[in-house]
Amino acid sequence: MHPTWPSADAWQQALRTLITDPAELLELLGLPSTLADAGADGEFRLQVPRSFAARMEPGNRQDPLLLQVLPQQQERVSVAGFGADPLAERVSNPRQGLIHKYRDRVLLIASGGCAINCRYCFRRHFPYQQNQLGPEQWQQVLDYIQTHTELREAILSGGDPLVTPDSRLSRMIEQLATIDHLQRIRIHSRLPIVIPERVTHALVTALAATRLQPVIVLHCNHANEVNDEVRAAIARLRSAGITVLNQAVLLRGINDSVAAQQQLSETLFSSGVLPYYLFVLDPVAGAAHFDVPDAEAQQLVGELQARLPGYLVPRLAREIPGQPSKTLLMPRRPR
Ligand code: SF4
Repeated sequence: MHPTWPSADAWQQALRTLITDPAELLELLGLPSTLADAGADGEFRLQVPRSFAARMEPGNRQDPLLLQVLPQQQERVSVAGFGADPLAERVSNPRQGLIHKYRDRVLLIASGGCAINCRYCFRRHFPYQQNQLGPEQWQQVLDYIQTHTELREAILSGGDPLVTPDSRLSRMIEQLATIDHLQRIRIHSRLPIVIPERVTHALVTALAATRLQPVIVLHCNHANEVNDEVRAAIARLRSAGITVLNQAVLLRGINDSVAAQQQLSETLFSSGVLPYYLFVLDPVAGAAHFDVPDAEAQQLVGELQARLPGYLVPRLAREIPGQPSKTLLMPRRPR
């Protein structure tokens, strides 16, 4: 079946009409405005696309999508071990807009903007202003990759890299493809989930045309985030042969049950996406209330393993600063 394509600027229109006022969001859901803590968001304001808000259940103050975006009073509580740079990325930032943590892959901060502000975001305090990729910085990034012949993969990250217009993204991908030792281009994005119209014809064409093997890693935490529009967006990516994976974050009160994780894996797979990683929370200041202890996470994934085939069980992992790769946490078998 041929995919149907959204208009080229529908996603930009959605970006222009984000909900940024907690009171407006709560009113839309028929909830009292007192549920939000107006002072909790500071620099990291509430930001949510209208189509994502439409997937929240009216009247449900525990809605798993709402809890991911609503500024709450607990964010003001300072907790030992939770800081501004939980992954020590500022020491792996050799060029503006470039993070080189792992030997064969490099991460490019293609954009400091996002369509949605997830309260648990590990880069919520990241100095995006100091990492903007203007033409001069972009050339320095290309030079860095060119001289580091051990690199095989460029990862476009952010913020959300798909906030970048298609014309600029296409140019970036074309220029990266001229570097012989690169083999893959990976895009980490939540946009196809929160604004599925972002999967435009121009984006898919650029990814299908490059000699680099394209991989998209989505960020979806709960099955309720996947609706028909998201399924159609994933189908558009897959129609061009793009590998689509998902990584989720394990979040207290949102997806910290075996049933929620099972439903997420099954929903993703039936939509054409393989569950890839389930991350335990990075200890970022303001997000401690989402934390699930490692032992509980390992137990949960052990139970998931007993219910699902192996390919539907995401790898439980933590990122530890200074390690040469993600650190896998072994599931514990249920007794
Ligand atoms: S979409 Fe990703 S980068 Fe943006 S706020 Fe959410 S977790 Fe952070």
